[in-house]
Amino acid sequence: MAGEPQDDCLFCKIVDGSIPATIVRETETTVAFRDINPQAPTHVLVIPKAHHRDAAALAAAAPGLAADVLRETQAVADDEKLESYRIVFNTGSGAGQTVWHAHAHVLGGRGLEWPPG
Ligand code: 5GP
Repeated sequence: MAGEPQDDCLFCKIVDGSIPATIVRETETTVAFRDINPQAPTHVLVIPKAHHRDAAALAAAAPGLAADVLRETQAVADDEKLESYRIVFNTGSGAGQTVWHAHAHVLGGRGLEWPPG
């Protein structure tokens, strides 16, 4: 069910602590942790604690929680002293989504080209 922890979900396991991660921020509803394969000097993932499969499902089922995630991306950027940064929600396998628990990538600390690959 939307919002319930999933046994086979990597990020649900990071939320419950059974898989370790370098957590940089935590709120009642969100966790932010460093990406295991960073693509920029700052590469932090912000996730809702509740399981939603992607950003679209999160926004549809829990718009307040989606706003919490977005607010935390800003907090990460502030903590990391990023003047310019990119927030990415890969949504669907064709866009590169590989983990099916909604997450925002916060990327910064280097020049970022547009359009992305
Ligand atoms: P996606 O490709 O779904 O948009 O992003 C998934 C991200 O999760 C990737 O950037 C990948 O490096 C990261 N990732 C995958 N497994 C782990 C893990 O076990 N720990 C952490 N911290 N990040 C992970």
